[in-house]
Amino acid sequence: MSETKTLRCPICRKVVPTDSAEVPFCSERCRTIDLGKWASGDYKISSPILDPDLLEDLEHAQQQQHPTDETKEWKN
Ligand SMILES: [Zn+2]
Repeated sequence: MSETKTLRCPICRKVVPTDSAEVPFCSERCRTIDLGKWASGDYKISSPILDPDLLEDLEHAQQQQHPTDETKEWKN
């Protein structure tokens, strides 16, 4: 008797077939989201921040630090 077990994607809570290539995620997209959470999370920050809103603010701050102004100066 073959029992069909199902997992739930930790990102979007969709049911994931256990024979899916992306287990435990429902899709490559959700896997990437999860990886991104780890990559942009506490690993880069010395002290853990538990407030998700603060983490989002940090991500935005990091995105704004791209040195686009510097390349402009080089052109001038
Ligand atoms: Zn998902």
